[in-house]
Amino acid sequence: NTHGVVYLINNSENLLQEIASWGMTNSKSGFEPHDCWALRLGNKHIADPSTPGIYCKHVDCDTNHQPTLCLPMIAKGKALGMLYLRFDSPNPISELIQELSGTVAQNIAMSFANLKLQEKLRYQSLRDPLTGLYNRRFLQEFLEKEIDRARRQQQFIGILMIDIDRFKKFNDIYGHVVGDLVLKVVCHYLYSQVRQYDIACRYGGEELVIVMPNAAIEDMVIRAEEIRLGVKQLKLEYKNLDIEAITVSIGVSCFPDDGIDTSSLIQAADRALYQAKEAGRDCVKRC
Ligand code: GH3
Ligand code: MG
Ligand code: MG
Repeated sequence: NTHGVVYLINNSENLLQEIASWGMTNSKSGFEPHDCWALRLGNKHIADPSTPGIYCKHVDCDTNHQPTLCLPMIAKGKALGMLYLRFDSPNPISELIQELSGTVAQNIAMSFANLKLQEKLRYQSLRDPLTGLYNRRFLQEFLEKEIDRARRQQQFIGILMIDIDRFKKFNDIYGHVVGDLVLKVVCHYLYSQVRQYDIACRYGGEELVIVMPNAAIEDMVIRAEEIRLGVKQLKLEYKNLDIEAITVSIGVSCFPDDGIDTSSLIQAADRALYQAKEAGRDCVKRC
C-alpha cells in the first residue's frame, strides 16, 4: 500500500531525476538536492499529517496529507539518490516499515554504486584518458565485428588514418602542455565530425583512426578532405601564444578493396598515410 519513486543524482550532483516509480506519486520528477530534507541531513525524513510543515519541497502536499518517507540512498559515504515513499494509510509509519524501507534504500544504493563502478571501469578500459577517444583495443574489437557484418551485407568500410603533421615541433617549441592541447583540440574536432555509426580512436601518439562503416568509396576521400580542411581551421589559444595552424595528413583504405581483415586494412591506411607525408603533408591519399 505504498506509492514511490526512485531518484538518482546526476553527474553534476545538482539534480535528482526520477528513474522509476509506482502507484500515484505526488513528488516531482526532478528537483535539486536541497529541496529534500533527507538529502540535506543525510538521514531518513518522515513527514505526516501531524507535522504538515515539514513536508519536503519536492512533495506536492496540497492534494492530500498522507505520511511520506524520504530515504537517502547512500553507498560508500556518498548519496547516489533517494527513495521516496508515500503511504495510503494515514497512520504513523511503523518502526518495522521504516527499517525495512531503509534496508531497501541501502540495497538499491549498493547496486547502483556497483553498476557505476562497472561503467567507469569499462569506460576506462576502452577510452584514451587524454582525449576521450576510443583506444586501440576498442578499435580492434569494433573493426573485427564490422568486417564480419560488412562481409555478410556486402558493404564497404572506410578507414582514415590521420597523423598530425610535425607534431613534435609543438612539443619542442611550446612545451608538452601545448602538445597535449593540440591533441585534445584535434580529437575533440574529430569526435564532433564522426557520424552516428562511425568511431574515432586514438591509435597511438598523434595517430588517430576513424572507421566509417557502410561508407561509399567516393565518400571516404571526400570526408577525409573535409576533415583535413576542418583541422586547418582550428584555433588554438594558450596564454596569448601565437600558435601556428595545425595540419594533418590522412591515408584512406577501404574494405574489401584494400584488405579483408583488421591488420591489412590498417596497414593499407598506414601506407597511404606514408604517401601523404611523402607528398609534402597536409593532404589525403587513397591506398
Ligand atoms: P610527421 O609530420 O612526420 O608526422 O612529424 P611528427 O613530428 O608529427 O612525427 P614524430 O613521429 O617525429 O613525432 C611524434 C611526436 O609525438 C613524438 C612524441 O613525443 C609526441 N607525442 C606522442 N604522444 C604524445 C602525447 O600524448 N602528448 C604529447 N605532448 N606529445 C606526444
Ligand atoms: Mg605526426
Ligand atoms: Mg606519427
